[in-house]
Amino acid sequence: MEPESRPCFRFAPSPNGWLHLGHALSAILNFEMARAARGRFLLRIEDIDATRTREDYVEGIIADLKWLGLSWEEPVRRQSRFMADYLAAQERLQARGLLYPCFCSRTDIARAVEAREHESGAPWPRDPDGAPLYPGTCRALGSAGLARAAAGEDCAWRLDSPRALEAAGEIAWTEVDEQGEAHEVRAEPAAWGDVVLARKDIGTSYHIAVVIDDAAQGVTHVVRGRDLYHATSMHRLLQILLDLPAPLYTHHRLVLDANGEKLSKSLKSTALRELRAEGATPDDVRELAGLDLLDVDAERP
Ligand code: GLU
Repeated sequence: MEPESRPCFRFAPSPNGWLHLGHALSAILNFEMARAARGRFLLRIEDIDATRTREDYVEGIIADLKWLGLSWEEPVRRQSRFMADYLAAQERLQARGLLYPCFCSRTDIARAVEAREHESGAPWPRDPDGAPLYPGTCRALGSAGLARAAAGEDCAWRLDSPRALEAAGEIAWTEVDEQGEAHEVRAEPAAWGDVVLARKDIGTSYHIAVVIDDAAQGVTHVVRGRDLYHATSMHRLLQILLDLPAPLYTHHRLVLDANGEKLSKSLKSTALRELRAEGATPDDVRELAGLDLLDVDAERP
């Protein structure tokens, strides 16, 4: 069989809440950009976090997307079925000494950060999501940490960012804006510090699963909200470390609430199922999400 050469887009929600107008914008954009490019459109359920996944949310996502008039290739990939692939990627990074085990609780980290701030009198640096960077406590354990992990002590695995950055060198990605113009963006994975790549509770992480899946599914165009713009730096770093191809990226504007805040899954008023129950049509949703303002047919790379 010929390898698939058509452009490939995906919508990849996490089933930990109902879809809202922001998801509608993202899903419809991906669907229509795929159609304009005569490409493929995939739906992927990002359900690695069993503590937050609910089957009724998965069913709700599918029902809402069908109601919007979208269709996708079957079978739908569910991340929870591919844990072995994510573990294999983590093992490759471990084997190169790019991950280290971390035994800290949230409280341990908060205390260490507080102590550093107290010592220096200056605020401790934060990651792009506003969380304090990991102060590196367990990196200092070296082989003693590895021995504790090998003996079966519960731990998370963190990126050894200085080593990883050195191994990867300069990193960039291609951002395609909403008008279809492509430009290079310099990635800044250092902004995330020693991020957790395998959580203690679920054994993997969003960053690992998303880069493995985008590569496994042949995704060529990642179109997602601006809230994930900075995550792309980490995704590019991992793609380089794991020898995975780089898709093109578009980070579209977010749908904001009346206070100018990003929509949240807990806000009922913008959930698609609520709007639908109140008699809204798919066209109303497009208008509310601001889709009529975008030119998805623009010439794209
Ligand atoms: N699952 C992520 C979310 O729902 C999106 C992942 C992505 O598009 O890269 O926010």
